Amino acid sequence: MQRLTPDIKPPILPARSVVMDGFRALTLTLCLLSVLTRPALAETPVVSCHSGAFSVSAEDPQEADLACAIIDKTHARLAQLGFEMLEPARVEITSALDVAQGVCVGLYNAMEKKLQILSRSCLQDQTAHSIGFAEMEPDLLFETVLVHELVHAHIDQHSSGRFLPRVAHEYLAYSIQLDLLPEADRIRILEKAQIAAPIVFDEISASLLQFSPIHFAAMAWMHFDQEGADSDLVDRIIRGDLLFNTLWD
Ligand SMILES: [Zn+2]
Repeated sequence: MQRLTPDIKPPILPARSVVMDGFRALTLTLCLLSVLTRPALAETPVVSCHSGAFSVSAEDPQEADLACAIIDKTHARLAQLGFEMLEPARVEITSALDVAQGVCVGLYNAMEKKLQILSRSCLQDQTAHSIGFAEMEPDLLFETVLVHELVHAHIDQHSSGRFLPRVAHEYLAYSIQLDLLPEADRIRILEKAQIAAPIVFDEISASLLQFSPIHFAAMAWMHFDQEGADSDLVDRIIRGDLLFNTLWD
């Protein structure tokens, strides 16, 4: 697993999360990286979302409209948590991520302020390889991956100029992602992870993220929930007041 946070300078390799579950390696994943390489296709139609902070490009205009609808739907909860977009970002729905193809399903490029999400038809092919999200329909997987990357974009803007370890980024991205899932889907993931409250904060570590992201995601959400799931908690994390176990980060 390579890890880059948005503010890290050496933009060499893509970040990717590789999920391990038991003896199986999986590939669902939500990437965070700081560099990028390939420009968007000029012909791809671009839709401006209602909020104005995001524009979406997609070969299928309906998929761009869907992404905007998800962004607008998510806006209220993110605002509740203290997240407002401070500058515009763009979303690219694509059949091929700029990096980590076959490993990631979405990514956030901090340098270009760009989110990339695989199209639903591509996600349909990916779900068979994922654990935890495997039973999700492509529409819900598309939505939840977009939410995850949206959180990275917000954290990037709100933590600008400050170092935030990747494990802190992923704590918030997974927590808010699971928070916004339909309850039945969240419960299924929690059951799959087989963890029980109360969660010990120090166990939500960079090494857990590396070796079992699905457990990391479940523990992060449970901890987030038990700590109030509010803007104060988000703010403490963004300010670096919560010191994560960063061994392996
Ligand atoms: Zn992530």
